[in-house]
Amino acid sequence: MSRTFTYQGSAAHIVFGEGKAETAGEWIEKLDCKKALVLSTSNQKEDAARLAEKLGPLAACVFAEAVMHTPVEVTETAMQVVADSGADCVVSLGGGSTTGLGKAIAYRTDLPQIVIPTTYAGSEVTPILGQTEGGRKTTVRSPKILPEVVIYDATLTTGLPVGLSVTSGLNAMAHAVEALYAQDRNPISSLMAAEGLRAFKAALPAIVKSPADLSVRSDGLYGAWLCGTVLGAVGMALHHKICHTLGGTFDTPHAETHAIMLPHTAGFNAVAVPDLLAPVAEIFSGSVGGGLWDFARSIGAPMALRDLGLTEADLDKAAGIATENPYWNPRPIDKPSIRALLQQAWEGSRPAA
Ligand code: NAD
Repeated sequence: MSRTFTYQGSAAHIVFGEGKAETAGEWIEKLDCKKALVLSTSNQKEDAARLAEKLGPLAACVFAEAVMHTPVEVTETAMQVVADSGADCVVSLGGGSTTGLGKAIAYRTDLPQIVIPTTYAGSEVTPILGQTEGGRKTTVRSPKILPEVVIYDATLTTGLPVGLSVTSGLNAMAHAVEALYAQDRNPISSLMAAEGLRAFKAALPAIVKSPADLSVRSDGLYGAWLCGTVLGAVGMALHHKICHTLGGTFDTPHAETHAIMLPHTAGFNAVAVPDLLAPVAEIFSGSVGGGLWDFARSIGAPMALRDLGLTEADLDKAAGIATENPYWNPRPIDKPSIRALLQQAWEGSRPAA
């Protein structure tokens, strides 16, 4: 077999284990830092305060104002807190929104980051930052953005509501599905992607059934690490372009949009690259899109774009934007084909392929 690929491993330290969030202080010291700014959303303020208390003198203070899509105004306020508190590193406790704020600070200051993820979005292992200013979302990629240390501790994830666990897991799975056909894929990214999908296939139904079970929560974080890592390693395609369009222009919620679109975009691309998506059909026992759709429905995921407040009239505009400056995709796209794909996702009908 002829093989051509390039591969670069990530420089991040990955720590896995129940109770390992307790080692955050040790990591602050290993990074040669003295005072961490602890970040969270307002929902997780109490968890962040508890963490800061455990860190004692290693915590500068808590900034619990992280919000979705990393608005530059919030980052600017946080930058002032960094300056006033003399923090020399950040500890981000939360999902992609909190991680995004930590990344935005690191992008501007190169301060080291320790991330303790509590959703499955996967942002903690990518060198990518999406931020919004004046209603526009832009994305930057830089080695400064990649967090230095990621601590996956299932004990902090049992409070993640089941609905959010499901959509967040499907969001991560979308990274893995697109990694399987990425132009710059390599043997390691494909292995990690398939293993990430297998992890979520087992973990999500178990989390729905027993959300407080630490071992299934650990399996979810394992899937998040794998799927997030491939998101950081290889290029994404049509699925991510459509979700960025819907989130950016129509303000649809991030994880839910990914969850609804995944069976449809995967089924669309399966027609062009059935061999590359064969692991998906095998893991989800069926056709690629149909198998993912059955799985999503079985775990109570939202199934139709219309349930996110999108109108049928919005679909035309969305298809136009998604095809204007498209990301590379394994199957050629045009506005009518993407309009039809969006219609299928809007109605929530089962994809044939
Ligand atoms: P989120 O971080 O916005 O979290 C959603 C809500 O759940 C928040 O209120 C949060 O406080 C709460 N929450 C999180 N974990 C919890 C827990 N364990 N218990 C109770 N409540 C909890 O959601 P998300 O889907 O993780 O992140 C979405 C954001 O991440 C988007 O802005 C998206 O663009 C970004 N993202 C970026 C990348 C990247 O590589 N740059 C990758 C994926 C997502």
